[in-house]
Amino acid sequence: MHGLIDKRVRDILERAYGGLSPDRDACAHLLSFDESSLEAYAVRSAASYIVRGRNDNSAIILGQIGLEMAPCPGNCGFCAFGKDHAQMRPSRISDEEFAAKVIDFCRDDDLYGLYLMGMHDYDLDFFLGKVRLAKKLMSGSTQILSNIGDSEVEAFAAMKQAGVSAIYHVCRLREGSVTDLDPKVRVKTMYNALEAGLQVFSCLEPVGPEHTIEELLDNLFIGIELGCTQHAVMRRVAVPGTPLAKYGQISNLRLGHLVAVVALATFSMPTMKYIGVHEPTEIGYVSGANVVTAETGVNPRDHIAETSDNRGMDMTACRKMILNCGFSHIRRGNEDKIPINLDYVESLDRPLET
Ligand code: SF4
Repeated sequence: MHGLIDKRVRDILERAYGGLSPDRDACAHLLSFDESSLEAYAVRSAASYIVRGRNDNSAIILGQIGLEMAPCPGNCGFCAFGKDHAQMRPSRISDEEFAAKVIDFCRDDDLYGLYLMGMHDYDLDFFLGKVRLAKKLMSGSTQILSNIGDSEVEAFAAMKQAGVSAIYHVCRLREGSVTDLDPKVRVKTMYNALEAGLQVFSCLEPVGPEHTIEELLDNLFIGIELGCTQHAVMRRVAVPGTPLAKYGQISNLRLGHLVAVVALATFSMPTMKYIGVHEPTEIGYVSGANVVTAETGVNPRDHIAETSDNRGMDMTACRKMILNCGFSHIRRGNEDKIPINLDYVESLDRPLET
């Protein structure tokens, strides 16, 4: 079978087995194959083998709590919150509801990090209040992460002081064309976070069938050039009522192919730790991804106000995904490893005590 695979793909993968990531040109070659080609299967397998081998076959769970929803001036054509097409009523989480979600996420100390997700235009004091409340309620090793709009260094410094360790931020595909935001400001925000001492988690997103390989690579390499700590791929979900829903979605098999190329392009970076796939799918976890995300509250990829009732996965579903995808450990926020097996998953699948 070896001889059947394109020689250049073989060479790229052999260099990766030796510790060398493919450069942009090599990534373009890997992405040029159809997702059901023999080459794509080889790329997905190699990425998973390499990433798992460097990380003791571990995966992590990230949680996300959506704090608020209002029609958003970002107006992204793929997002349920865009001001010209938002269909939800504005809402903000109460302290009681927020506290119950934090306790639920963190009670077994196997959540690596918890995102607090605000809007593009957010109230810093409101956000910091939620960070401080989360900090007070957490007794284990879970890190607090932030997912908010464009921000200056000072805002990130205040978040760091309140207990945030990293941000999720992205300059999205066709930013400024399918969104009302400025791509330069999106990228500057990531550098602002680094300057404030926060880690940056980036993502190639939101990928649709219409994107060219060059567009995908431009986006992927923003995270690489700035020295992100996590990278990921998100396929665009055709959210009903959003303008870009008409283009449809890429398959999960193509999503896995993209995850594999991102994993190969980033595994050798000294800053890199984990690779995500959105939304969580088994194919992604046998293609190099090792981050599973649980979501509750509002979610830009969902038209339902409480995403855990629809698209979002809970902690038990995340643990089952990790077990079923053959990982042997879950990592805590302090990088400690917990062996994962059926007893572990079933013993934690219990109702809330509160
Ligand atoms: S993706 Fe973010 S910035 Fe864009 S409309 Fe949605 S909430 Fe606003």
